This record gives sequence, structure tokens and C-alpha cells, in this order.
Amino acid sequence: MPTALITGILGQDGSYLAELLLGKGYRVAGIDRWTTTAAFERIQPLLDEIDLIQADLHDQEGLMELIENYRPDEVYNLAAQSFIPASWSQPVLTAEVNAVGVARLLEALRLIHPKARFFQASSSEMFGQVLEIPQRETTPFNPRTPYAVSKIFGHWLTVNYRQAHGLYAVSGILFNHESPRRGPEFVTRKITYGAARIKLGLASELRLGNLDSRRDWGFAGDYVEAMWRMLQTDTPEDFVIGSGDAHTVRELCEQAFGGLGLDYREFVVQDPRFYRPAEADILLADPAKARQKLGWQARVTFNELVQMMVDADLQRLAKEMD
Ligand code: NAP
Repeated sequence: MPTALITGILGQDGSYLAELLLGKGYRVAGIDRWTTTAAFERIQPLLDEIDLIQADLHDQEGLMELIENYRPDEVYNLAAQSFIPASWSQPVLTAEVNAVGVARLLEALRLIHPKARFFQASSSEMFGQVLEIPQRETTPFNPRTPYAVSKIFGHWLTVNYRQAHGLYAVSGILFNHESPRRGPEFVTRKITYGAARIKLGLASELRLGNLDSRRDWGFAGDYVEAMWRMLQTDTPEDFVIGSGDAHTVRELCEQAFGGLGLDYREFVVQDPRFYRPAEADILLADPAKARQKLGWQARVTFNELVQMMVDADLQRLAKEMD
């Protein structure tokens, strides 16, 4: 039975990846950092099937002990300070986790268990103010946020450990991916949750930032499948993982409110407080390499994704109101 270690297992992607790997017969271990209010909600149904170990990407010794004890066949580094606005208010913490944290984990693997296969969750935000549309593996990075800068460190370190130390280490340049398990602070969830609240008469408006930013949105369940496939190839390589289809935040509003029989223009208010100091403009993936070499492509469409999220939020709220 192969063993997989997932950092960030309590997050959106971690929960989908744990489900996928358990279904494939893996023994799954995940790290959970100590907090007073750890949220197990996303992996609640899996708690009996996985090993949860307390560790933190800030703590080198703990990571080394973990690698020593588990000697995982595959390591998926999904842990991150993943919320871009927080990277402006907490740039040092963001760098500590997203950049230096990757170095700690790679060092633990290099020193203790170099045979493990390593996946790094990189981000399309690294393309920032894009230098090419669509973006592919060879598109130069041009970051616009501290989050993107921190992710570039993790990306290049992964590439360097592969090239210099011979580790099987790969980086997935992930475009935005969402699900009903997305954190409520992210714009997609903010919109689907907000629309559901308005539908149920619990709110009368939804305040958002820039409605014209354009993103390539896919379903998280599809993206964790790509992560797994990336670690099954003979030769370690980096891949752009995205749908190849971009939509604006405005279109997301149209779809979410429209699905509930509402016109978003009556409820959505643009609020400068939610504008970012700087923003990536048109993030659009060219996923051709993943299609050719991994046989992977996003299956859930934009409309299906938004509908899935709105339905889940409606259900959740209706249950709370019962
Ligand atoms: P997420 O829901 O925010 O999950 C991130 C997880 O990392 C959380 O469970 C968090 O723990 C954990 N974490 C934070 N700091 C940590 C630390 N110091 N030590 C250990 N764990 C820590 O993110 P996601 O959406 O699943 O994304 C997974 C990965 O893909 C992230 O690296 C993200 O940056 C990257 N990515 C995501 C997207 C996307 O659209 N979702 C796109 C590109 C790249 P707590 O639960 O305790 O907070």
C-alpha cells in the first residue's frame, strides 16, 4: 500500500486529494498545525481513515521527524497562506510558509528520504501582469502580489532540487479552482454564498471589488486528479493545470444569481474597499501539455461549477435556518 503525505490536508484541495488517494488504496497521512479552532469540517467523513499529525511548515525538526516516521512514497505540499489579500497585510508570514516552508520540506526529503516523489502547489498568480496569453509552462513570471512572489520561490526551489539534487520534485502551476469547500473569503464562494443568502432573504446586497478581473476557474476535484497524475509519470516535469476557459467576476455573478432566478445588477455593489493594491489581469491557461502528457483535462465546466457551489450554499443555509 503506497503512503502519501499531504500538507494542507484540512484545506479545500487537501480534502479532495485525500478522498482521491484513499479511493486508490493509499495510506494517507496529513499534517494539521496546532490552532485553537482547527476546522475538520472538510475531512470529517475521512477522519477514521487518515492519520493526522501535528506539524507546521514553520518547524523544520517536526517535518524531519514526520518524514523519518512515515517515509512517504508521495508528498503533496498543499499547505500555504493561500489568501492573496492577506499576503499584503502579512507578507513576512506568507513568505515564511509559502517560500521558506517549501525549503524546509524539501530539505527534510533530501536529507532523510530522497526517494519520495514531491508535488508543489504553485499558482497561476505567478504570471501576474501576464506577458503572454494564454499562459503555458514557458511563459515568464511577472508577479503582482507578495503571495505570487512567495510561490515563485517555492516553484523554482522545487525545479532546482530536481535538477541539482535529483529529487523527483514537480510543480503544478494551478489556475484557480473552486468547489463548495472553498473558503468563504474567496471571491467565488463569497458570490455563491452571498447570492444564496439574498435568495433566502438573509441579505439584500453583496459588496465586491473589481468585477472585470478575468480568471480561469475549474473544479478542485479535477485539479487534485492532475496532481496525482503528475507524480505517476516516468520523468518528473512541471505542468500548467487549468481549464483553458476564462470568465470575469461579473460573469460569475450573472451565473450565480441567474441560477437562482435573480438579476445580479440589483444586488451587487462595487466597493473600492475590496479592490486589490495591484492585480493580475487576464489569467488564462494553455493546458495543452497536461492534456498530451498526462491525459488530463478539466471536466466540470464553469457553469456546472457555479451551479454546484450555489446549490451547496443554498442547502447549507437552509439547514442552518431549520
Ligand atoms: P486552503 O484551502 O487555504 O488550504 C491551505 C491549507 O494550508 C490549510 O489547511 C491551512 O491550515 C494550511 N496551512 C497554512 N499555513 C500552514 C502552516 N504554517 N503549516 C501547515 N499547514 C498550513 O488552500 P487550497 O485552495 O486548498 O489550495 C491548496 C494549495 O494550492 C495552496 O498551496 C494554494 O496556494 C495552492 N493554489 C490554490 C489555488 C486555488 O485556486 N485553490 C490556485 C493556485 C494554487 P489551516 O486549515 O489550519 O488554516
